[in-house]
Amino acid sequence: MKKIKMHTNIKTHKNTANAFQTLNVQDSQELMEKNRIPFARSQWAKNEKELEKVKITFPWVMKVVSNKIVHKTEFNGVRVGINSLKNAREVWKEMKKLPGFNGVLVQEQAGGFELIIGGKRDLQFGPTVLVGLGGIYTEIFRDFSLRICPIAEKDADGMLKELRAFPVLAGARTGKKVNFNKLKTLILNAGKAMEKNSKILELDLNPVFVNAKQAVAVDARIVMNK
Ligand code: ADP
Ligand code: MG
Repeated sequence: MKKIKMHTNIKTHKNTANAFQTLNVQDSQELMEKNRIPFARSQWAKNEKELEKVKITFPWVMKVVSNKIVHKTEFNGVRVGINSLKNAREVWKEMKKLPGFNGVLVQEQAGGFELIIGGKRDLQFGPTVLVGLGGIYTEIFRDFSLRICPIAEKDADGMLKELRAFPVLAGARTGKKVNFNKLKTLILNAGKAMEKNSKILELDLNPVFVNAKQAVAVDARIVMNK
């Protein structure tokens, strides 16, 4: 999978002094919780036995936890539709062969449209937030909008309306409108988190699932200035 360069006009900080740190699953979740960024219910199983202790209803999504892997899908490190403990154990046995294997993140399965919500700290402009069409369509459509913080509700509104996919989110054809209030809150809270915590350099939520009920991130990559 190619890395998408969507923040092409944004000058980011260079990791010259090796002063950057990508947060692990647990620290990412804590940071998001603190900043009211909804993240799908997840439990980190550190050994196979811990799968039995997972209190999430099936179907599960299982994701490899490894600090050697950035794009989990490339390693077949994301499995959706796990329906039983037996199935989960089979997936575990395959995932444990992956480089840097450090357990599995078990997650509730989400549905709806996949968006990207990405925060980036620009050297000149400070915190910026991007919203775009996520998942498999990201590279094909390159449909996104960008704002400099602080972002007010009307800005979040404008960002969404700028998307070519907006009519689809608003229910064109399907008649199912996504929950714009929850989506806007998530965008605003991502912006606020970047403003409040100047150590956050990148806050990449990809994807965020949005449907009629909720807006919830299922994957996060958070880069901190040490
Ligand atoms: P990575 O970006 O490291 O490859 P992700 O966690 O973003 O891994 O998962 C890749 C894809 O798997 C997502 O774009 C989405 O289509 C699907 N996926 C991941 N988590 C969930 C989930 N909780 N519910 C439904 N689908 C998911
Ligand atoms: Mg992802």
